[in-house]
Amino acid sequence: MATTAVGVSATPMTEKLTAADDDQQQQKLKKGIAEFYDESSGMWENIWGEHMHHGYYNSDDVVELSDHRSAQIRMIEQALTFASVSDDPEKKPKTIVDVGCGIGGSSRYLARKYGAECHGITLSPVQAERANALAAAQGLADKVSFQVADALNQPFPDGKFDLVWSMESGEHMPDKLKFVSELTRVAAPGATIIIVTWCHRDLNPGEKSLRPEEEKILNKICSSFYLPAWCSTADYVKLLESLSLQDIKSADWSGNVAPFWPAVIKTALSWKGITSLLRSGWKSIRGAMVMPLMIEGFKKDVIKFSIITCKKPE
Ligand code: SAH
Repeated sequence: MATTAVGVSATPMTEKLTAADDDQQQQKLKKGIAEFYDESSGMWENIWGEHMHHGYYNSDDVVELSDHRSAQIRMIEQALTFASVSDDPEKKPKTIVDVGCGIGGSSRYLARKYGAECHGITLSPVQAERANALAAAQGLADKVSFQVADALNQPFPDGKFDLVWSMESGEHMPDKLKFVSELTRVAAPGATIIIVTWCHRDLNPGEKSLRPEEEKILNKICSSFYLPAWCSTADYVKLLESLSLQDIKSADWSGNVAPFWPAVIKTALSWKGITSLLRSGWKSIRGAMVMPLMIEGFKKDVIKFSIITCKKPE
């Protein structure tokens, strides 16, 4: 699997793909993602809660397992601060899209925080249904709604949203150019776009690709977590530049998420974790088995936890 190509499918760049092959691969990937989250989201919610993303930890935080929810909320808040999203009643976001929304944790948080209307999309019917049920249970049904839709072909008109939010979904996107183009299309003039995602390390000058041992780690993670080719943070920045977006900023938060996977593994190995995992099915078990590789990937500096933000010109 090529890990340096931007905007391609999970097939090696050396193989010539017809458009039909490419489409078939993308359909297969989408089906895998939908089934993976259909199967595993209940288990995740049961042992870990409504947010399906990393927590953000400051280096002086005492990391406690019970702290995972506040670390996940901190991730949302840190991302908003990094992107300078305004709390000012005049300037705060009023319409938000949550691209790759999971069971809607971010949407409900953002809708509550800003009093905004929020639309979430996911490939997983189980997630969309659960997200809507949680919104109704929390009295947010008039503010937030969730549907099954493809981030690469969003069911929204141009220029609809003043905050475009993608929390840990970009890594699933087989065509990064199409992904950021769609984020840009649905953004209103002046809107903020926030992408928090897994990347591979930036290549060094003269390097054409990652080292084989690095590719090996990523490939194993790809097949268990239904990910296509990875790209680097610099690749995202280049794509955003090519779309003439403004105030493009990025940061490496790998150090701030380091306690996350050890904490997830510890929870998964609890009695509740093991029984939930076994009940949930093979795809979830396969996902759990590559968690140590995430730790290895971060330690070896090949995986980067990145935030990339920008604004659409007025
Ligand atoms: N942002 C959520 C969930 C992250 S998990 C949270 O932080 O809690 C990744 C999510 O991306 C899943 O909901 C999955 O269905 C979604 N996803 C992956 N590929 C997608 C695509 N092509 N279109 C829409 N959603 C996608």
